[in-house]
Amino acid sequence: MERLLAQYAARPARPLHIHLVDPFPPGPGHVWRTEQSRLYLMNTQSFFPTLIPDQGVAAAPLAGCSFNDWRGRMRQTPDPALSEGDRAELAQLTATGFPSRALYGRYLSWCVARLLEKLPDGATVTHHRAEARRVARDHENGGYGVELLNGETLHADKVVLALGHVETRLSPAQREFRDDARANGLSYLPPAAPNDVDWDQLPAGATVLVRGMGLNFFDVLGQLTEGRGGRFETTAADGGALTYVPSGREPVVVGASRRGTPYRAKAALESYYPASVELRFLGEDAVAKIRAMGATAGFEHDIWPLLHRDTLWAYYTTLGRSSPGALAAGFLPELDALLHSGLDGDAVDWAERLKSLTARHVAEGRALDLAALARPLSHHPLRPGDKHRFGSQAELDAAVLAYLADDAASSARGEEDPVKMAIGALNAGRAIIKSLVADGGITQESWLGELRGWFEGFVEGLASGPPALRMEQLAALVRAGVVHFSGPDPVFRIQHGLFQLSSPWVDAEPWHARHLVEALAPANRVQGTASRLLNNLQADGLARPRVMLAADGGAVVTSGLDVSAPPYRPLDGAGTPVPGLYVLGLQLSSVQWGTAIAAQAGAEYRSGYRTVLDADAIAADILA
Ligand SMILES: Cc1cc2nc3c(=O)[nH]c(=O)nc-3n(C[C@H](O)[C@H](O)[C@H](O)COP(=O)(O)OP(=O)(O)OC[C@H]3O[C@@H](n4cnc5c(N)ncnc54)[C@H](O)[C@@H]3O)c2cc1C
Repeated sequence: MERLLAQYAARPARPLHIHLVDPFPPGPGHVWRTEQSRLYLMNTQSFFPTLIPDQGVAAAPLAGCSFNDWRGRMRQTPDPALSEGDRAELAQLTATGFPSRALYGRYLSWCVARLLEKLPDGATVTHHRAEARRVARDHENGGYGVELLNGETLHADKVVLALGHVETRLSPAQREFRDDARANGLSYLPPAAPNDVDWDQLPAGATVLVRGMGLNFFDVLGQLTEGRGGRFETTAADGGALTYVPSGREPVVVGASRRGTPYRAKAALESYYPASVELRFLGEDAVAKIRAMGATAGFEHDIWPLLHRDTLWAYYTTLGRSSPGALAAGFLPELDALLHSGLDGDAVDWAERLKSLTARHVAEGRALDLAALARPLSHHPLRPGDKHRFGSQAELDAAVLAYLADDAASSARGEEDPVKMAIGALNAGRAIIKSLVADGGITQESWLGELRGWFEGFVEGLASGPPALRMEQLAALVRAGVVHFSGPDPVFRIQHGLFQLSSPWVDAEPWHARHLVEALAPANRVQGTASRLLNNLQADGLARPRVMLAADGGAVVTSGLDVSAPPYRPLDGAGTPVPGLYVLGLQLSSVQWGTAIAAQAGAEYRSGYRTVLDADAIAADILA
């Protein structure tokens, strides 16, 4: 809407009428509802997101600003629409703080209101508070009929699908679990947006198993602890560590994930990407170079060797700065030479040379071990004569506590922490990779087997975690006995009428419980979606999921829609772009990587405002 209005103002033509269709308020929509609990925090800092473009587009925005500019304005001159809670939050919130989702929703709704005030002559906007259930060609009048769930049908010349996070049907395994749970009278909470769940159904004192220790896990914990009247306090006696003061209404939570630990916390930084990290190998120019090479890139062949080098350099230069004694003199120049070699040659030989160089020059235990970063408990020694790593629940909980303390301390060191700077390089590399792989930039088998096969999960767990405060809070909850862990590679079953949870690595009694929460975001897949609209589009032959070929030649139905080149139009059943129908955002997940993120204010990499460019291209095509 923002791009349509901006371009229309610059070049008005015949009247433009925009129908906004969403059962939720325009701006916040479903995810950013302003009335949700303030314990739900954004995962990006105030300085990050913007709805209004600040680069890359020709038509200047008509109104609005970035979230951080809005934050400043609202502190000076509060808007009458701000709630008491918004004002209290704004009084505390800094540029590097993590806003509540409710406050971000207020910003989005403010932007929409300012745009509506600045409507150019000839443009009008109507909001229909309803779900669209079908978009069908209007054979009589041309264009489309948009059927709403309330029975109304709108006529539109053009339709943009900006559906975002839509509900998904459960996977066969989840369905089986849900049905078995039901038959046994157990409560099974499937993947959902945390704000859509009634957490009161989990009783005080009961054991609650939680599968997944990513961002949703922290949302669940917040609701079950602070959300129930518990408090975190800082005790001077305990060296400033947080203490949790329970309300007595908490359940006992058992956290489970394959790694056995939560995502790593974000480093305390003044910027989204660390200032001290420079991508010397996988920089923005690598995109053009790789694209110019003539053949389609492969992730492991063409991209990872560059990013791996940047990650190593970020780690060792930070280590040299923060713990000079850990590196022998002359190591960094030797490493630099090694990094600049072997790019066309034998990767095995290069890896061996790296290993031997670090063995000779890096203090014991200080070399970068990326695999270990991703599975922090796997280096806990196996017990002699035993197949377990942990002899008891207490030993496991203590190991995870030590990991949490270490991770929080490492985040607090910010730019001086070698591990967090290695992760910072990986995170910055993600921005470049997004540009590189977009629109068929890597082979399908590499997209499936490498990028999504291992790299995505690896980098998510390292670079997409919560603020460090969440780790300190989690540690306090463990010390208070409110949270325990299952151990790595958890096994869930239903046995003797109860959920059972155990880990092959822990020598302890399995956990038994009546409640299981899937702390995962619903999978964003167009096949298997619960969205009536997406299902009807596919049934009517106006859209289809993108199919790719895996390394073994097998066809794989991917998560997103099959679309034309930008401006993205869905491909119909016969593979032809559907004129006048456009796709923006999450359903582009098979031609773009990492679509579930806002546009970045003042982005240093082009992929940071890609979604704005997509919207701009769609708006231009519509108005043309
Ligand atoms: C819980 C959560 C937290 C997040 N946190 C962050 C964060 O901190 N920072 C960040 O950058 N990104 C975050 N994201 C990523 C998020 O994807 C983007 O920030 C942004 O919300 C995407 O915008 P969108 O408009 O494409 O999709 P959405 O925000 O999902 O909006 C889509 C809208 O379309 C509506 N809709 C869907 N189908 C229909 C239909 N058939 N008829 C009518 N209306 C329909 C929905 O009701 C919804 O309002 C988060 C996402 C989630 C789910």
